[in-house]
Amino acid sequence: MDMVTLGRTGITVNKNGFGALPIQRVSREEAARLLRMALDAGITFFDTARFYTDSEEKIGYALSDRRDAFYLATKTAATTAEGFWSDLETSLRNLKTDYIDIYQFHNPAFCPKPGDGSGLYEAMLEARRQGKIRFISITNHRMTLAHEAIRSGLYDTLQFPFCYLATDKDIAVAEACREAGMGFIAMKGLSGGLINNSAAAYAWLAQYEHVLPIWGVQRERELREFLSYIHNPPTLTAALAAVVERDRAQLQGNFCRGCGYCMPCPAGIEINNCARMSLMIRRAPREAQLTPEMQEKMARIEQCLHCNQCARKCPYGLDTPKLLEDNYRDYREILAGKAL
Ligand code: SF4
Ligand code: SF4
Repeated sequence: MDMVTLGRTGITVNKNGFGALPIQRVSREEAARLLRMALDAGITFFDTARFYTDSEEKIGYALSDRRDAFYLATKTAATTAEGFWSDLETSLRNLKTDYIDIYQFHNPAFCPKPGDGSGLYEAMLEARRQGKIRFISITNHRMTLAHEAIRSGLYDTLQFPFCYLATDKDIAVAEACREAGMGFIAMKGLSGGLINNSAAAYAWLAQYEHVLPIWGVQRERELREFLSYIHNPPTLTAALAAVVERDRAQLQGNFCRGCGYCMPCPAGIEINNCARMSLMIRRAPREAQLTPEMQEKMARIEQCLHCNQCARKCPYGLDTPKLLEDNYRDYREILAGKAL
């Protein structure tokens, strides 16, 4: 059984955390069933966000009677102290608890610090003083901001995208966290669905003892896969290392991770799905990408205004409008019969 300690927080949990973003997409009863199954089997770290619609409520509904048995992380995207308190009170109410273990600024555009005029960090300190949160944390997709947060010494954990497609620079962020005594929570361990071998994903991350992956779970089948890793953690065998190498060769570089930080789009284009269609259609079940609904979404790319808003917001520096065009061309060719 692999355990992870989140830096100076001392929080020690199994190396399979539960990412509660996808439970927004299932019923309350189904979400509750998955959450309880996870906790019963030994997953004791649950990560959600105020922004994930009813995810917090579902966790509160399913698990609040066993609050001492697990750690809870949630996030606020507030940009003012007033918004912060409103989010925190809502989260506590939804989660049916009087404290949150790890409270995270959700992908802020700047690194909140005391005295920066936003009042956000001061609100965190006050919330901790009141016992409503235990640790002050931050999530981000931008490397420069992640390093700034680490250097500041103000944060107990960082949540950052990390998977076997990571570059040396991503690995340096994880290492910097370890050196600073901060916990490192890995989001997008399957790169938003592009990695389809979870054992390889787990085994690669297992090389980093201080890294806690939170796996986004929506289906029992997915959950059972991760639960099996509690007692039989995959290691980087030659076969799994070959999967990692093949995917790295195929996927590293300029591809859309599906994070959605470039949205909303004024033309209503679902960029986070459409800009990576060529990969999804080849790596995930194809039928789901060819439904009339999806064809309609792809056709919307024709409405692109070329305003470039999306490219400016993309934390990976992608030329998003060009990527959309390329994916749409490929998609049309596939619809016309191009072999995959
Ligand atoms: S460039 Fe196109 S896809 Fe990007 S935000 Fe503007 S309209 Fe949307
Ligand atoms: S284009 Fe960039 S910001 Fe938009 S979903 Fe893809 S990776 Fe995320």
